[in-house]
This record gives sequence, structure tokens and C-alpha cells, in this order.
Amino acid sequence: MLPYGRQSISEADIEAVAKVLRGDWLTTGPAVEAFEAELSRWCGGVPCVAVTSGTAALHVAYVAAGVGPGDEVVTTPLTFVATAATAALRGARVLFADVQPDTGNIDPKAVESLVTGRTRAVTAVDYAGHPADYDELRAITDRAGAVLVADAAHAVGSAYRNRPVGLLADLTTFSFFPTKTVTTAEGGAVAAADPARYARAARFRNHGLVRDPVEQRDPGHGGWHQEVHEFGLNYRIPDVLCALGISQLRRLGRFRARRAELVAGYNTLLAGVPGLTLPARRPYTEPSWHLYPVRVRDGRRREVYDRMRAAGIGVQVNYLPAYWHPVFQDLGYRRGLCPEAEAYYAEQLSLPLFPDLTDDQQHDVVERLTAILR
Ligand SMILES: *Cc1c(COP(=O)(O)O)cnc(C)c1O
Repeated sequence: MLPYGRQSISEADIEAVAKVLRGDWLTTGPAVEAFEAELSRWCGGVPCVAVTSGTAALHVAYVAAGVGPGDEVVTTPLTFVATAATAALRGARVLFADVQPDTGNIDPKAVESLVTGRTRAVTAVDYAGHPADYDELRAITDRAGAVLVADAAHAVGSAYRNRPVGLLADLTTFSFFPTKTVTTAEGGAVAAADPARYARAARFRNHGLVRDPVEQRDPGHGGWHQEVHEFGLNYRIPDVLCALGISQLRRLGRFRARRAELVAGYNTLLAGVPGLTLPARRPYTEPSWHLYPVRVRDGRRREVYDRMRAAGIGVQVNYLPAYWHPVFQDLGYRRGLCPEAEAYYAEQLSLPLFPDLTDDQQHDVVERLTAILR
């Protein structure tokens, strides 16, 4: 089965991992810091904290944003459930704002109508790699005194109004799962411009341990002493995986370019195919495309999904509206809450998109899809 997304691993990637395996540090060593520094360069210099997954990154971001019980977090339903689940795990109430029908991104006007004095964070998702409307979102969070969070799991390397993702929100999270644009197998990161939020994120990743005697409450024990002031978890990503991440980030420019080329190819080859709506791109954005999401109209999405899969083409659906998951249904969230997101879900199909997809494979995908829809 041709997958909808997959990693691209080079001999240089393998060599980088092997080198760390032969060295002294398997985890919490120099490769972690080097990976964070390299990622920070893609984020306009904003410092990054690397963690074990994109989900861990979201959890850490909500901790750094001070999200807790009684708070509200406004986010999009058109995302992987972790964007909302991690806020709920912090004890916050999640409010879902509807999306723009063309980009699938959170609609600032919908956010505006949901913001209250209890809003602690607004979390946008750069759906498919296309940045959300950050200037509009920033105006809303500034007025509300809320933290602007970007779930940029799809969007490492994307830009908005000539500013890179990582620089656009107060806290930006990344995922390095194999289907994503850059991989560490499992991994994630948080970019945090504010030093206090950065420190809180870094500390939570390591059990909340306080090592600097200057910050300790009872520093007199000796050199071994460390204290926990706030509970944390072990979200430390190993050096082995960061070595892969560094090597992958060196290839991000090429990944972006090949993905852009394939997206341009789909746009040309699928233009005018009946019953299909192609993804939009706002002229002020430069997406680093993670997905190629089409909308299959006329109620034919399921049929097209089944027939493409039967033909060995691993199309995917991204995503079930987050509040359709039974865990949210059980909390009282009802269908119909976000009509645009539900309409998007009903038609959405992701076509194969990854750097090693060949032109011939892409032509096969297009031919198969066109044959079904004609
Ligand atoms: C992949 C993804 C996540 C979760 O990342 P993991 O690394 O799989 O934990 C969160 N949000 C979005 C939008 C994603 O695509």
C-alpha cells in the first residue's frame, strides 16, 4: 500500500544515529541541545525544549501557559485529538471554534465569540502545514489576556507574512512522528519566547526538578541535592533520536521544496476534475505542506476512500472533529457544534504526500482518483 505519508531516511541520518550510539550520551546529552539549537534557527531564534512526542509538547505548552482547572482553552475541532485532550488533562474546559472552509484553519471570528475572562489559551493548528491567521488571533488573545498557542505539528518550516512558524505564537509545538515533515521516530518540541515559560517547560520535562542551588528552598544538603517544587513528568527525548532530528532538519529545506513541487503537481493535474475541491493557499503564507487535503463533494468521500484503498493507494482522513470522540460526547459536547468543521470532515481526503513520492507514483494517484470521479 502506498502510504499517505512516510519518513525519508538517508545514509547520513543512519550514520548520525550510529555515531551517538557509539558515544557516551544516549540521553540528556549534547545532541539534545544541538537539536534544540538547530530547531530554534527554524523558529526565528525562539528557544526550544525538545520532548518525547507532539502530544508531550502540547501538554508541556499548556503547563507553561499556566492552564489549569477552571480555565478555558479555545481550539479547533479539525485536529488530532491530542490538541484538545492535553488541555482537558490539565483540567481546563475546551471550547471548540469553527474553521474556515477553504484552509480548514480556526476562524478568528469564531474564536472572538468564544473568548471570555476565563480564556487562558487559544490554540490554533496550522492545518496541513498552512499557517493560521496569527495577526487576527494575536489581536484577540492580547485583548483577552490569553496565551496564543500554535500546534504546528504539520507546519515546521512554514512561514506567515515572512515570519517563520515558531515566532508567531507565544508557545509553538511540533511533532516529529514519522508521517510528519521531519522525524525523530517519536518526538516533539515546544518553542517558547518568554524566559519564564521556557524555564517552566524545560523543568516539567524533567520531573520538575530544580537543580540550581540559588533556586532551591533548602540548598544546604550538598552537591547531590535536587528538589521538586511543582510536579512534572519524564518527557526527555534521547540523544539517539535527537541525532536523527539534527540530520533531518539539515534536509528540511529539501523536504519543503519537494513537498511544494508535489503540491504544485497535484494542483495542476487535478484542476478541473469534477467533484473535487483543492486546498487553498493564502498569498501571505508559505506553507511547508504536510498534507494534501482535498474535499470530495457530492457525498462520495467514503466511496472514493474505499476504492483508492482497494487500489493500493493509502489515502487518509484528517480528522474526525475532536468533539465527536466519545470522551467529549460523554462530557456533553454535541454534534452540530461546528458546522464548517463537520462539513470539512465529511468531504476530506488526504492524498499521498511525502518527499520520496515519485512523479510516477503521483501520476498513478491522480489517474486512479480521476477515473473514479469522472
Ligand atoms: C501528530 C499530531 C499531534 C501529536 O503528535 P505526536 O507526536 O503523534 O504525539 C498533535 N497535533 C497534531 C495536529 C498532529 O498532527
